[in-house]
Amino acid sequence: MFEPAGGRWLRFSKYDLHRTEDGRAYLRPAPEAEFEWYDPWEAFRESRRARGKMLAPYHDLLRIAEEIEPLSAGTGEPLLDPNGRKLVLEPGNYHRLLKWCSEHGLLGLLLHRVESLTLSYQWRRAPDKHPLAADWSRNGLWPVRAAYFRINGSWVHRQIILDARLFPQRGDDGQVIAADAIPEQLPKPGISIRGPIGLSQRRWDQAYEEQQVHQYQPFKKTWDAYFPELIVPDDLSNPDAYPYPLPTSRAFWKSYAEPVDEFLLTAWVFQDALAELSGELHLADEAKRRLLDSKQSLNDFLFGAFPTVQLSEEGEIQQQWTSPSLMGHYALMALQDLTAPGRRQFWCLNCGGLVVGGHPKAEYCTDRCRNTAKMRRKRANEDPIQPGSEL
Ligand SMILES: [Zn+2]
Repeated sequence: MFEPAGGRWLRFSKYDLHRTEDGRAYLRPAPEAEFEWYDPWEAFRESRRARGKMLAPYHDLLRIAEEIEPLSAGTGEPLLDPNGRKLVLEPGNYHRLLKWCSEHGLLGLLLHRVESLTLSYQWRRAPDKHPLAADWSRNGLWPVRAAYFRINGSWVHRQIILDARLFPQRGDDGQVIAADAIPEQLPKPGISIRGPIGLSQRRWDQAYEEQQVHQYQPFKKTWDAYFPELIVPDDLSNPDAYPYPLPTSRAFWKSYAEPVDEFLLTAWVFQDALAELSGELHLADEAKRRLLDSKQSLNDFLFGAFPTVQLSEEGEIQQQWTSPSLMGHYALMALQDLTAPGRRQFWCLNCGGLVVGGHPKAEYCTDRCRNTAKMRRKRANEDPIQPGSEL
């Protein structure tokens, strides 16, 4: 049986806004908030059953992208400063973002990009009976790399033993191996990370030039930016004191925050891509290029999704796609809507919002918009003097 997709995501009951000293705004769970796991695909399946009466959940993100403008109101100033950091939004917009998070959770932008974390290297006593002990240990000790990996879609903590012959100097039992004593062929403490999510080929090329993609980075470059309140000690010689929680663990979610600028930029890129793919096929070169860019951008949002084997309660084997982030799940949903037979994309005649996978004859995004438009028509008919009409 083919069950298109599923997955677990986490949302807190309440989020609040946090500002770092440099003025960067973050969305983070409120300290007293409760959390729950949910399946974002439940709402998607419901939207399919409701047949055009209810929109798939990613439309809420499209509305955010459409309603919060990249330009600050009135002044015409760009929303982001030249460093892409300080974001000037109307207070109402922040409120809207926080409410969105309490309904859906954060987008998981860091989890979408990170492939593994190397925490530390340490000398440890090798067990005598281990088959590699004789060859790989030196004076009964061997180096161990502590790391987090994403294996089969789940994050795990692993201690990987290494061959002591790679390391020129031996330390004492429990001693942390300093970064400059780590052989070149092994990753230094830090993360293995892909570039920003949702980029087209053109923008990837730019990101490559800026060395933002597919690389090992120290924690402080990208990782630490998602944990604005985490205090990282200067001395990391005690690996047990490492502040980095296992991704997707409870401790991780409690301290993970998403910068408002990245959240919005991602929403804008996603909305742009879907709007462009939903437009009419123009033949002008510029429009064709934009269409191609949008296709590539959506493909990048889809990257990292993978099929899984699931067992139903009756023990039936099911194939199900899943994704490392909420943003990835939304891209999978949009793909299903874009390719659903007999569905079309359109802009709501009342609010102007993009509808993906709508009913072929629908003109409004929701019943509410249809009713609002109906009321407006009714009022216009009842009012004998039309605004702007000549007396
Ligand atoms: Zn509407």
